[in-house]
Amino acid sequence: MSTLKVFNTLTAQKEEFVPLVGKRVLMYACGPTVYDLSHLGHARMAITFDIVQRYLRFSGYEVTFVRNITDVDDKIIKRAAERGIPADRLAREFTYTFWHDMRALNVQTPDFEPRCTEYIVPMIDFIGELIEAGHAYASGGDVYFEVASFKEYGKLKKQSLDELLVGARDQLRSQDELKELKRSAADFALWKSSGDEELAWDSPWGRGRPGWHLECSTMIKHVLGETIDIHGGGEDLVFPHHENEIAQSEALHKKPFVRYWLHNSFVQVEAEKMSKSLGNFRTIQDVLAQYSADTIRMFVLQTHYRSPIEFTGDNMNAAKTSMLRLIRAAKHGDEANGSCDITREQLATDADLKPYFDDFIEAMDNDFNTPIAVSVLFALADQVFQASDDSIKYAKALQFMGCALGFTFSDTSRVIDADTAEGVLSLVLELRESARTNKDYATSDLIRNSLQTLGIKVMDVKGRPATWEKS
Ligand SMILES: [Zn+2]
Repeated sequence: MSTLKVFNTLTAQKEEFVPLVGKRVLMYACGPTVYDLSHLGHARMAITFDIVQRYLRFSGYEVTFVRNITDVDDKIIKRAAERGIPADRLAREFTYTFWHDMRALNVQTPDFEPRCTEYIVPMIDFIGELIEAGHAYASGGDVYFEVASFKEYGKLKKQSLDELLVGARDQLRSQDELKELKRSAADFALWKSSGDEELAWDSPWGRGRPGWHLECSTMIKHVLGETIDIHGGGEDLVFPHHENEIAQSEALHKKPFVRYWLHNSFVQVEAEKMSKSLGNFRTIQDVLAQYSADTIRMFVLQTHYRSPIEFTGDNMNAAKTSMLRLIRAAKHGDEANGSCDITREQLATDADLKPYFDDFIEAMDNDFNTPIAVSVLFALADQVFQASDDSIKYAKALQFMGCALGFTFSDTSRVIDADTAEGVLSLVLELRESARTNKDYATSDLIRNSLQTLGIKVMDVKGRPATWEKS
């Protein structure tokens, strides 16, 4: 019997996954800062933790998955000022586009999705308690966490305080100003004073807004609790963001904050080459305009989540071809069409299917080894195409395991977008015009009537090409 093992950034090794309480899993992943359209890096992180939470549920865990929305940030205020609109409106706009992107990518909605603006009072309380406990100090309207007061600082990044000093930064104040305000350069802001009208709140230390790191610590505490099982994010968040989350939460609660830290690697984009030859694909929406959600997921899952992936036209087209093969196999025969109506029990007991299912589980249990899991799907597709009497059975097994990985198996190769439909109609009307010119009224009437049946009304205008509208 296979057991789930995950690579824990905190211990830098693969460990058996055992939740704190029974089969209950409390899981958190950092969400977007909503000031712009989400890009490919966001897509990879979202798909990675979508896979983690899907597979945990698939394995019988009761998962509570939380992903936040950072709707308070200097970048939001700056972008809103550039656009001449209120900051909260800009944040709402990009929250909606993020949701739209996630839905389009078939990333499941988290169980809770707290927004920073909903937790300002708990954040102020959190800061007050840190000051009281001697871990934070107010200075010039700001409040800083005193890193020297938390002896384990650096344990996630695995670097000493001196090595980490280079990374310390703050956006609202100059480095000279910060030297005056902070006891040590490594100290980080919990509260930043701000005279801004927007996205600023009154606090015991004056008007301002909370630091980014504090948001996650506070929302985790209030939505999930003081100790959670899994915290996920991109590897660029390890330092300073996650290191600081640990410092804040463990300094205050005096207990482990997160039991398993999971981090996904980044996406490399051949920016120059891509913009010249293939168009500019930085945002999720750009990529979705060209490739289906299944293709993007295939591209992401064919590499293990802890290895970098390279986004190129060739890699995407290869993923597209692979995905089409799986879709053809999954839809093999009408009986297998569109549903995952085979049970886990059948997979585990059927002598033909069990070896595939065992391989799939073993791969996913091994730190979510999706490249191997996907290769099992291809092995099943091979069986489907051997056209034996059992093709349908293999097709259903393929669908079942594919659905567990979040594939939709929707065949987008036969979905026509509006531009294409417009082109096809123009062509049909041209053919009708040519029939009329040749006095072939039978054909021209046939075309007009057939279009009418489809709800498209053709209107002849003297001396000009015919036009159409939906009736
Ligand atoms: Zn976070």
